[in-house]
Amino acid sequence: CGIVGYIGPQSVVPVIIEGLRRLEYRGYDSAGIAVAGGPKGLELRRAPGKLRNLETVIHDSPIDGSFGIGHTRWATHGRPTEENAHPHRDGSGTLVVVHNGIVENYLSLKSALIAKGHKFVSETDTEIIAHLIEDELEMAGGHAHVVRSQSANESEAVVSDGTSPTRETREALTPVRPALPLEEAVRRAVKRITGAFAIGVLSAHEPNKLVAARMGPPAVIGIGDGEFFLASDVPGILHHTRNIHFLADGEVAILTKEGVHLTDFDSNPLPLKVQRITWDPIQ
Ligand code: GLU
Repeated sequence: CGIVGYIGPQSVVPVIIEGLRRLEYRGYDSAGIAVAGGPKGLELRRAPGKLRNLETVIHDSPIDGSFGIGHTRWATHGRPTEENAHPHRDGSGTLVVVHNGIVENYLSLKSALIAKGHKFVSETDTEIIAHLIEDELEMAGGHAHVVRSQSANESEAVVSDGTSPTRETREALTPVRPALPLEEAVRRAVKRITGAFAIGVLSAHEPNKLVAARMGPPAVIGIGDGEFFLASDVPGILHHTRNIHFLADGEVAILTKEGVHLTDFDSNPLPLKVQRITWDPIQ
């Protein structure tokens, strides 16, 4: 329902939480956030109910990073539980996805992925997207992740989610070079989806990069001064920047510390069309 992503010098968690709060009018049943680039690598916090619940979880178990994405969920597939809240992880636990919309062909995608050894931990259609991206990385020559044949505990070991202090970021100790840039894996994955999506993706293997893609639900990119934003709607980020690119259907945006690069799903570069927003949201 609500998406906010941030990459830049500000403290990431407050920027995302405040942005999600400004999108609260859209309604939601649970909330979550993932940050990376901090001392503990990729970290995830989620909570059913209001943003306040998520803030309590973060207060009790703080997270820090140099970039991140957050989401408020309006459930379409799966109950409003912590497990079903976004962001959703891939099998390796090193990349996460937030998603607005519906993956209509998720049952056929899910069975194809299960046949390849993927294990799912939520009831959502969104989790499929994370595994599809992982599948593309694997098919391109080995997204080195925790081997699936290891115990379930170990395959979950790479993300600290605050519930188990013994889980460590194992892969942080052995940096891996991804077989594909994250954005290319995202482009290949979204082409396999039938349905509607605005997604935000980040990977612990690609520091300071957010990838967004759209087909249906709205998504906007905010161009700040040395900082860049992703949101499902303008009011989530307008207090930070008025320079907005409205992501069009079929566009992929790559946000880094250096700027924003735009392509179509076939990697053809596209021009950013930055508009200056002069109106103010009614708060
Ligand atoms: N279909 C997804 C889910 O149920 C996304 C819901 C949303 O747009 O918030 O988790």
